[in-house]
Amino acid sequence: MALYVQKFGGTSVGSVERIKAVAEKVKGFRDRGHQVVVVVSAMSGETNRLTDMAQALNEDPAPREMDMLLSTGEQVTISLLAMALQQIGVPATSHTGAQVGIHTDSAYTKARIQRIETDDLKADLEAGQVVVVAGFQGVDEDGNITTLGRGGSDTTGVALAAALGADECQIYTDVDGVYTTDPRVCTKARRLTSITVEEMLELASLGSKVLQIRAVEFAGKYNVPLRVLSSFEDGPGTLIIAEADQDEDTMEEPLISGIAFTKNEAKLTLLNTPDVPGVASRILGPIADANIEVDMIVQNVAPAGDYTDFTFTVAKGDYKATKKLLEETVIPDLGGGDLRGDDNIAKVSLVGVGMRSHAGVASKMFRVLADENINIRMVSTSEIKISVVIDEKHMELAVNALHTAFGLDKSDIESE
Ligand code: ADP
Ligand code: ASP
Ligand code: MG
Repeated sequence: MALYVQKFGGTSVGSVERIKAVAEKVKGFRDRGHQVVVVVSAMSGETNRLTDMAQALNEDPAPREMDMLLSTGEQVTISLLAMALQQIGVPATSHTGAQVGIHTDSAYTKARIQRIETDDLKADLEAGQVVVVAGFQGVDEDGNITTLGRGGSDTTGVALAAALGADECQIYTDVDGVYTTDPRVCTKARRLTSITVEEMLELASLGSKVLQIRAVEFAGKYNVPLRVLSSFEDGPGTLIIAEADQDEDTMEEPLISGIAFTKNEAKLTLLNTPDVPGVASRILGPIADANIEVDMIVQNVAPAGDYTDFTFTVAKGDYKATKKLLEETVIPDLGGGDLRGDDNIAKVSLVGVGMRSHAGVASKMFRVLADENINIRMVSTSEIKISVVIDEKHMELAVNALHTAFGLDKSDIESE
């Protein structure tokens, strides 16, 4: 007998029929003698629908009210799934995040889980219940409802699995595993049998939304066996594993394991800023103070020695506020500088632990993009990833060209 935490995403519970199918799947595990905790997302589209309504009423809704609103989506699916399970003879109870004891900090819309009470949960499991938990939500010290950021139900699942010491956390979604890149953008993308925690962390943080980054962090930190698989068809899915656990024989050891991309960033350039010590800090200080996260940063070498250009990226949602800050605070403080902004950019990243021991990945990447006539605007590298910023309109072409050039295409592997 094993204990499984199974998380079902929005599409997997997107209709009454889908909820019935989930109930049948859960019943199958229970019939084989396993204990099951089920975490569900809101029905697909629901979180967006709620967000749109909020925006229509208030362009800057209070984060506390947003969490109050968005958490309702998951409350619908937990009760419906519990009913569907009961209908087929499976004892089940639904619980909100607060009821199950998922305590978070008070950072509304992006709260972090601090602790989970497992006593009641364990008692319910021992009593033979399937426990159905609302994903994406928790409760702060003062009893306010909080949410964990978009895609946060993944994190609820992994955190519960960690707290309960589950045998496996299974993330059921609308694709049958983690692919070399988003199969919706690259039809030649290939499912990976396994991927290391480190690589998955990079892919998630660089834009692959198949797993929320915090879910991967939890899995790494608490050694939770984590698997991504389809709720629509049976299959082995993709196992997220510690690098040390990689099996030498079956290990797929390409240079690049995956390609991530995002259109969710915007680029700002301050031209002709004085080239004196302290400038970078005078530009980025006020931005950090406003709680705006900066991603890539490039400072040019000043050709004449007096002036330089300073470019950085922020999340698209922070673009307007950053621009305003630069215009109203930073530029007057620096005593000059011209501002250029571009929010039609994409960041495309290659990820792979194989990069550590191989030179030449960057130059190959640049050659492939050059051959496609794609201009590179910014570059950043770390031990196991290379990211480039390009014009948004070239994103799909870049992803597909790189996928082929680095030997990730489905046909390449199958014909071997
Ligand atoms: P859920 O609603 O189940 O949480 P998500 O939409 O959040 O599902 O995540 C699944 C989606 O992630 C897939 O439909 C796919 O388009 C996208 N995706 C992005 N990158 C990848 C990748 N490398 N492998 C698999 N899916 C990916
Ligand atoms: N419903 C939330 C969202 O759409 C959480 C989740 O699905 O993981 O982001
Ligand atoms: Mg998701």
